[in-house]
Amino acid sequence: MTLAEHIRGESARLAALCTACGGCVRACPMTPYAAGVAEAGAEAVAAGMRDVLRDGPGTPAALAWIGACTRSGICTPACPEGLPAAFMLRLAQWRAKGALGEAPRIPVKEDAQLSARVKAFARLTLTEEEQARWL
Ligand code: SF4
Repeated sequence: MTLAEHIRGESARLAALCTACGGCVRACPMTPYAAGVAEAGAEAVAAGMRDVLRDGPGTPAALAWIGACTRSGICTPACPEGLPAAFMLRLAQWRAKGALGEAPRIPVKEDAQLSARVKAFARLTLTEEEQARWL
């Protein structure tokens, strides 16, 4: 199974368990910084997040909320279904940033140093032979 298949499969599995009750949205400290969330309502925003996990387009308010996530993790204990809401937001953020090849729907920060940093950390753990083959 590829990473993309795993991301899509986990997204679909968790979306199927989510009732879009809005508990995670109501618990989130970032909603004041996400345009349109208050007007749309917690249930609708949660439904939009769930839609993104189901390969859907989401809604402007849901995408604003997904983009505003700072990984506080406060949403997870707020979920009455016992779902890993913070992980769902992470999956939704990847999806909305186009991780599976879709056009990005929220801003993506470019990190020009990422490749250099990955290689620097990889050199700490890889053998010389592995470095020659992969880096
Ligand atoms: S609190 Fe849980 S069930 Fe309710 S919308 Fe959020 S993830 Fe879905």
